[in-house]
Amino acid sequence: MKDFEYLHPHTIGQARQLLASSKNAEPIAGGIDLLGMMKDYIDEPPDRVVNLKSIPGLNRIRQEKDGLHLGPMVLLVDLEEDKNLQQKYTAVSQAAASVGSVQMRNQGTLGGNLCQRPRCWYFRSPVHHCLKKGGTTCFAMAGENKYNCILGGGPSFIVHPSDLAPALMALNAKVTITGPNNKSRTIPLEEFYILPRVDPHKETVLKPGELVTNVIVPPAPAGSRSIYLKFKEKPSMDFALSAAAVNLTLANGVCKDARVVLGGVAPIPWRAKAAEAALKGKTINEAVAQAAAVASTQGAVPMAQNAYKVPLTQTLVKRAVLASAGIPQPAL
Ligand SMILES: Cc1cc2nc3c(=O)[nH]c(=O)nc-3n(C[C@H](O)[C@H](O)[C@H](O)COP(=O)(O)OP(=O)(O)OC[C@H]3O[C@@H](n4cnc5c(N)ncnc54)[C@H](O)[C@@H]3O)c2cc1C
Repeated sequence: MKDFEYLHPHTIGQARQLLASSKNAEPIAGGIDLLGMMKDYIDEPPDRVVNLKSIPGLNRIRQEKDGLHLGPMVLLVDLEEDKNLQQKYTAVSQAAASVGSVQMRNQGTLGGNLCQRPRCWYFRSPVHHCLKKGGTTCFAMAGENKYNCILGGGPSFIVHPSDLAPALMALNAKVTITGPNNKSRTIPLEEFYILPRVDPHKETVLKPGELVTNVIVPPAPAGSRSIYLKFKEKPSMDFALSAAAVNLTLANGVCKDARVVLGGVAPIPWRAKAAEAALKGKTINEAVAQAAAVASTQGAVPMAQNAYKVPLTQTLVKRAVLASAGIPQPAL
């Protein structure tokens, strides 16, 4: 691994300063993704690594008037095991429980999960200088693309691997970003991620030196229920081949509001607005769930090896919709 400075700030202000005063610095949280990238020399390893674990208080879960505040250093295991989350924000605890292994959930953090780099065999390969790493070609287009995206692709065809991001987006979460100029801004999580067609070298709106310092999940409205379903190739631990986060608000069985967000099928957590439209105002039943499922993959352009993601995603959406409406579904 390349030599690097390892620094331990005690405040967000110090962390921002340390990040801003180096041309090539990265924050580190649990380190699961960052250290893997550094060991494999992917995408210019940092010269300076700024440890967020040394800042007290970033690992708190707090209930405030405007919702649940989740610090970026909250461990995934804490999201998985928090009773309030399990009951009121079920998709978030289910998504956390679905990440990697128990060891990873005890090490990995919310901020790291949301900001982790994309998945693509070529991007993660030390020997391929792909488009995302400053090259000229997205090798997935004509190469191995079984795991790549079916929605929102081009010019690069990565997938965003986070399990937490679709679940939090389905719950309308916001993120607070704090920058080197000491200014904070809070934006919908949906606006945090950017498509490769906007900038193929970035995945989020974070600028150099900026940190995610809070995640806010608004209060769950009465009658709402959220579900996260993930399908992985290896049942033991794996990234999502596809995942569906569905959050329905029902009144007398009628859907007043719906959010459907897909994971593992696009370069960003993918909001399936056509599926939401197919649910709103309807009494949820098998046929309505099926129509929403079909609508969820509207615009999909599968590659040579990943057309299986279309029916897989539709099945997950259908099951998640029915489960959100309280209609029991058999285990996957
Ligand atoms: C074998 C394996 C399996 C995995 N399986 C899954 C899975 O099933 N689902 C899933 O979602 N993920 C999976 N992951 C990916 C990921 O490593 C974990 O989800 C974990 O949550 C990352 O958190 P971390 O705290 O270790 O992040 P780190 O590695 O510390 O950071 C990840 C990235 O985020 C940046 N960062 C961290 N915190 C902040 C912050 N507050 N503000 C701005 N930037 C920040 C870092 O600079 C880095 O670029 C897997 C990883 C591996 C290696």
